[in-house]
Amino acid sequence: KKNLIIFGTRPEAIKMAPLVNKFLKDNRFETKVCVTGQHREMLDQVLSFFDITPDYDLSLMKPNQNLYNLTGEVISGLKPILEDFKPDFVYVHGDTTTTMAASIAGFYAGAKVCHVEAGLRTNNMLSPFPEEMNRQVTGRVATYHFAPTLKSQENLLSENIVKENILVTGNTVIDALLESSSRVENIKNEDVIELNDVVDFTKRVILVTGHRRENHGQGFINICVALKAIAVQNPDVEIIYPVHLNPNVLKPVNELLGNINNIHLVKPLSYPIFVWLMNKSYLIITDSGGVQEEAPSLGKPVLVMRDTTERPEAVDAGTVILVGTDIQKIIKETQELLDNSERYSLMSSLHNPYGDGRACERIIKFISNL
Ligand code: UDP
Repeated sequence: KKNLIIFGTRPEAIKMAPLVNKFLKDNRFETKVCVTGQHREMLDQVLSFFDITPDYDLSLMKPNQNLYNLTGEVISGLKPILEDFKPDFVYVHGDTTTTMAASIAGFYAGAKVCHVEAGLRTNNMLSPFPEEMNRQVTGRVATYHFAPTLKSQENLLSENIVKENILVTGNTVIDALLESSSRVENIKNEDVIELNDVVDFTKRVILVTGHRRENHGQGFINICVALKAIAVQNPDVEIIYPVHLNPNVLKPVNELLGNINNIHLVKPLSYPIFVWLMNKSYLIITDSGGVQEEAPSLGKPVLVMRDTTERPEAVDAGTVILVGTDIQKIIKETQELLDNSERYSLMSSLHNPYGDGRACERIIKFISNL
């Protein structure tokens, strides 16, 4: 059986890496990897950490990249690869433009499309934009659906996907996290030394990330205003913000948060260093999907800067609080977790709803039994 695993951004790479490495070790399959390069630097950081050399690289990232040219170029760039390799199965992950376009290309080529992290839904096509559309289209095109939770399976069943084609696996992000943990513990490299130079780790650390398109513009301005207020009100707290390379994020963040003593703006960190830093943090404020799945496994409360979520499991489990991009809400919930140690302890002791680190094993067993 021939597998083609396609991804293009940092989160897809992190969540597909354990599947790639498991498939490559399994001689029942011929497995090849294709990256679209939707992200370049951040994708390459992950490939290098997980020791993955792609067989094909579309290198599509361009200045002023937009959804129109990216979608078109992923589909047309994959045509010769699919025609040459003729995979039986094409694997895509999650909800990016790469995911959606690659699933369409795989469908055109007559391969069975396998969707990893299937069935997440807000059921509001416009939020998050364009991710909800990407995941719904991929869900229509895919034959096999690897749902991380029962809730995501339910979403797929309500869209008339047949149950035999769905497998509840847990999220592969936990596989990645557990696989990396021993290497994370032994970390000693320049990035950490640099962080140690600027950050006082005897203080409580708030870790921040953000990149969602729906927050570009006023959303990021609000986020920065709130972070500045938190930093000023709490000089005994250090805020570390690895800033996403998207210019819509970089610009407002650098302009509004560039000169504050206890806010440290740093470049995107390599995955193990980011995991190391999550472990060192007191609290995480983010609009990221992956981070809200990882953090509960590490016992870290998360404030999510979004109004809707396709990950209600974490909100229901109490490990995540939605704060949107409302300045007062971000400040109030952060202050509460800084000041109310009982609430903090409760939140950090809750159970992670996203799996046990054996998602990839389940996916491979399912495919090999077909
Ligand atoms: N991450 C990383 N370095 C950073 C920030 C995040 O390696 O500086 C990792 C994080 O651990 C998570 C993933 O990147 O696994 C999340 O990516 P992102 O927030 O870009 O995308 P999303 O999860 O929202 O799709």
